[in-house]
Amino acid sequence: MIPTLWAPWRMQYIVGSRSAGCILCEKVKEGEDAKNLILARGPFAYVLVNIYPYSSGHLMIAPYRHLECLGKLSAEETSEMMAWASKSERILGDAFHAEGFNIGLNIGKVAGAGIDDHVHMHVVPRWSGDTNFMPVLGETKVIPEYLEETYAKLLPYYQAD
Ligand SMILES: [Zn+2]
Repeated sequence: MIPTLWAPWRMQYIVGSRSAGCILCEKVKEGEDAKNLILARGPFAYVLVNIYPYSSGHLMIAPYRHLECLGKLSAEETSEMMAWASKSERILGDAFHAEGFNIGLNIGKVAGAGIDDHVHMHVVPRWSGDTNFMPVLGETKVIPEYLEETYAKLLPYYQAD
């Protein structure tokens, strides 16, 4: 399967669509997980589809608490985030046939964090040759329907666990 890639190489948040509050806190409180593309909730952290993805299947993992860096998280929060990353690696491998992953955190604005006051981990599935698409489609807009398809495809895998 060749994935459709449309996201910018450097993630640019669309400022106009962001509210004043923290999007990672707001989404989880709304209780509308399908609308907010939340795939799974654990005791300390949750998994959601990134609405500004680098690639199809780009997920984010965040603790519920609004804290800006790993050092402020509890041991339970950090270990649950890693457990979700591990599970997501397996699920994206199964569902999207990902061949590799970039998994990591941008801490602070200088490091490129789009949301710099609520720490979150990115899980970006990769396929051989996928970087070839990125310069070409660099500024192409996100297609919301595609995000919903991604969500619908992944949800059963998280629910089955
Ligand atoms: Zn927050």
